Amino acid sequence: MNVKDALNRPIRDIRISVTDRCNYRCAYCMPNEEYDWVNRDEILSFEEIACLTRIFAGLGTEKVRLTGGEPLVRKDVHELVRMLARLPGIRDVSLTTNGALLAEQMPDLSAAGLKRINISLDTLDAAKFRTITQRGELAPVLNGIVAARKAGLQSIKINCVVIRKFNDDEIIDLADFARRYSLTMRFIEYMDVGDSNEWRFDRVVPKREILEILRARFPIREIGRADGRAPAVDYKYEDGRGVVGVIGSVTEPFCGTCDRARLTADGKLVTCLFSNVGHDLKTPLRLGESDEKLSARIADIWTGRRDRFSDDRWGALKTRSGYDPKQYSKIEMIRLGG
Ligand code: SAM
Ligand code: SF4
Ligand code: SF4
Repeated sequence: MNVKDALNRPIRDIRISVTDRCNYRCAYCMPNEEYDWVNRDEILSFEEIACLTRIFAGLGTEKVRLTGGEPLVRKDVHELVRMLARLPGIRDVSLTTNGALLAEQMPDLSAAGLKRINISLDTLDAAKFRTITQRGELAPVLNGIVAARKAGLQSIKINCVVIRKFNDDEIIDLADFARRYSLTMRFIEYMDVGDSNEWRFDRVVPKREILEILRARFPIREIGRADGRAPAVDYKYEDGRGVVGVIGSVTEPFCGTCDRARLTADGKLVTCLFSNVGHDLKTPLRLGESDEKLSARIADIWTGRRDRFSDDRWGALKTRSGYDPKQYSKIEMIRLGG
């Protein structure tokens, strides 16, 4: 069965936050001290995640991304990869990581069936890296990238959140780095996730400007969005040395094709990255609700979905009154999975 929401969007993709814990404290993502961490016994077990994913697959979900928080701080997360990769209907299991623990875990992840990975890297400068992550070191992440290359994964993408006056001067260096090591660089517009990041529109470097910077250095040609609906618009380097993607999350929103559901670490279904509502699936699951009933529950939530937060935000940003992120309360990104 292929369930569609009120705007005719399927649930093709599910992003699962396997933990809200993280070994970094990126200023643009981590909530402040008042954040209530999810209790250990509230966190879904691997079996519970696999059970819900199987039910999602029955509703048309084909792709799973494990994220967080930092997915690699969850013990033995490769076992979860193995369980999900075997589920009928799931054709793709991928993972987004900060890379700090990747070098040691890459062999297990690869043996478990992981074929695609996104590694976050906002700067190549060790001091700036420490500043933005508030505790991370650059070298282990670079080692993680080397390990991913050695493992021969089908796809390694490097995610960079571009923030004005922080790393917009590194766009060419990062693109060069990715080209040198046959990686796909993806530049992401800075978003107002959660309730405590200090987002301001003047710190967003719009996709148009990122492209101008890239074009001044490299001849590139637009090849569009993967499958016609991915968040990133891809550009091919004319010299044949790979592809670079730009995600215009703020200035070129893609809500119209958003087929992504999110599952929080404590088992809530969230239908938009900027939502403040989580639909509890853990309680009925733990009470032994049948697959049929859980499936009907999820289908019911999805068919009522009308989310298009980024479309609306962009609409508001273009008006005289603008957009004030403080007016909207949102679930933190570490909880619902970036
Ligand atoms: N810890 C992992 C990592 O950093 O890759 C996975 C979780 S993280 C929340 C997922 C992705 O969201 C990362 O690529 C991160 O850079 C991105 N992200 C976090 N905060 C963001 C923001 N304010 N704007 C845009 N992207 C953001
Ligand atoms: Fe942790 Fe990733 Fe958020 Fe950074 S972006 S604080 S690494 S979850
Ligand atoms: Fe999807 Fe919500 Fe992002 Fe729009 S704002 S693309 S609906 S997650």
